[in-house]
Amino acid sequence: MSEKEILKKLEKILYPGLDRSIVDLKVVENIRLLEGKTVVTLSMQNDEAFEALSRKIKEALGDDVKIERKGAQKRKDINYGHTSAPNNRAPYAKRVIAVTSGKGGVGKSTVSVNLSVALAQEGYKVGLLDADVYGPNIPRMVGTAHEKLQWNENDKIVPSENFGIKIMSVGLTTPSSDTPLVWRSSVAVSALIQFLEDVEWGELDFLVIDMPPGTGDIQLTMAQELPITAAVLVTTPQPVALDDVSRAIMMFKDINVPIGGLVENMSFFIAPDTKKRYDIFGKGGGEEIAKRYDIPLLGQIPLDMGVREFSDEGTPPVAMGDKLQKGYYKSIAKKLLERVL
Ligand code: ADP
Repeated sequence: MSEKEILKKLEKILYPGLDRSIVDLKVVENIRLLEGKTVVTLSMQNDEAFEALSRKIKEALGDDVKIERKGAQKRKDINYGHTSAPNNRAPYAKRVIAVTSGKGGVGKSTVSVNLSVALAQEGYKVGLLDADVYGPNIPRMVGTAHEKLQWNENDKIVPSENFGIKIMSVGLTTPSSDTPLVWRSSVAVSALIQFLEDVEWGELDFLVIDMPPGTGDIQLTMAQELPITAAVLVTTPQPVALDDVSRAIMMFKDINVPIGGLVENMSFFIAPDTKKRYDIFGKGGGEEIAKRYDIPLLGQIPLDMGVREFSDEGTPPVAMGDKLQKGYYKSIAKKLLERVL
């Protein structure tokens, strides 16, 4: 079999749990023919997926294929280079931070907004792209929900600006905030790429992207179309959220997206009257996941009514909140900066 024929067969093999081919995902690092034997090198982290793929490759290419693996053990020091050589649809941004979560409702957008504003408060030029096609809530959280899409003379979309950051949301493509974006994932992906290329961001130190939750096509494509400097994962301490975020961590590791760290949100609640602490969604989950996957825990944000109120009013708590609320997000930004600068 020639290399070309081998590649064709490998192209038909899907990554376990995803409907994307291992060739497409750049999991296949190398194919060699060594003394009449085929050697396939896979670049991946996940032991279970490696076992499953090895079996599938043997089924496709025959039992005497040799399967090697790269990237089984990652160094503690994450290499923030871009190992899978993605395209770069955002050459105007020095660094791209993808904020994501395993499931919805855990506070991913709130973290995206306040992290972006905190980075701007540190003096960086920041653009925030709301790419959460299922719940594009960023305009409401930064007080720009009333704005409509605008184009400049170069036919580029002009981002909104508030709290020192530039903002663009896929939500602005609908006539009103309650119109759902009913997009197939392929359409969503091309719309997002268009956003990346067609918005007049100017030069940015950071492009922060509020990604949709989960581990679908959109995340994978964004990872291929952008050199993501670091992914920030948001979770609550609840077991179901932790299971979901673990899957997202594994996916990013396997597609070679560096992980900037984990934010545990809604970690606990301090009753304002009695000052008693309640661990509403459980305790210690974020720490455990961070340890298990060897990623930093960037912060633990309590359930805080002020965070919700300021966010609903379109005034990010990191800008308008009290000292505590500002502190949650400033310290996350500082920790992230230590990793990505
Ligand atoms: P996601 O983007 O993960 O769907 P959001 O950021 O939209 O989640 O948050 C969901 C809701 O929870 C919002 O109403 C938000 O204001 C609220 N929220 C997020 N974080 C906190 C927090 N730490 N304390 C209180 N409310 C929060």
